[in-house]
Amino acid sequence: MRKHIVAGNWKMNMTFSEADDLVSAIMDKLEQVTLDANTQMIICPPFPYLEMVSDFGDESYFSVGAQNVSDQEGGAYTGEVSAAMLESMELDYCIVGHSERRAYYHETDAIVAAKVKRLLAHYIRPIVCCGEVLEERESNRQFEVVKRQITDGLFHLTAEEFADVIIAYEPVWAIGTGKTATPDQAEEMHAFIRSLIAEHYGQEVADNTSILYGGSCKPSNAKELFAQPDVDGGLIGGASLKADDFVAIAQAF
Ligand code: PEP
Repeated sequence: MRKHIVAGNWKMNMTFSEADDLVSAIMDKLEQVTLDANTQMIICPPFPYLEMVSDFGDESYFSVGAQNVSDQEGGAYTGEVSAAMLESMELDYCIVGHSERRAYYHETDAIVAAKVKRLLAHYIRPIVCCGEVLEERESNRQFEVVKRQITDGLFHLTAEEFADVIIAYEPVWAIGTGKTATPDQAEEMHAFIRSLIAEHYGQEVADNTSILYGGSCKPSNAKELFAQPDVDGGLIGGASLKADDFVAIAQAF
């Protein structure tokens, strides 16, 4: 059975002490609740807080991931962080190709593909984001766009490599806007993504791939979204900055 995953993307928010308070509030909450045994929580803080959040770590509560990684192996790339560095910190996950990185840092599908390859070579599971902007949905091009992102970003992998990939479908018009895809819209795209994976790697690989939804997911809509057969969890932005909301979303399974 594929894993249910609820991953929090803290983005570029909070001071060190605010981050410390948040992770301790999340731990307190998690100690009071029982999550479904198949639900994995992941926290993706900014790079400078990775060690602090990992130190809280009891992996039975949550795993830790980075929000980005360099497409280069190492060397003279000022300001970059390599997959080898993340591996040396024993991180398990890393977000790749978030729409904010695609929009503000010109991350292309080819760059996403290179980052995914680096991460897998260092035993880190990529959480690969895809999703259309509003104009693309309004012109009914969402399937074409997502197909290109998945094909060009991921289908260079062998089936064995692909088995470690997690996909997050995040319609860009729903990120941080308070607008959420309807459960039907999310299911339609998730089923489409799974069918692309099945076509390329076979049904078994597709059935084992966790496909998360992201875009204004909150406690009030998580249950309905996660009830869809092809929605295996969420990549959570704003609501992951509130301990109560983040844990309540994980309880939606
Ligand atoms: C995100 O940025 O990955 C995200 C889903 O943000 P939000 O939940 O705030 O829409």
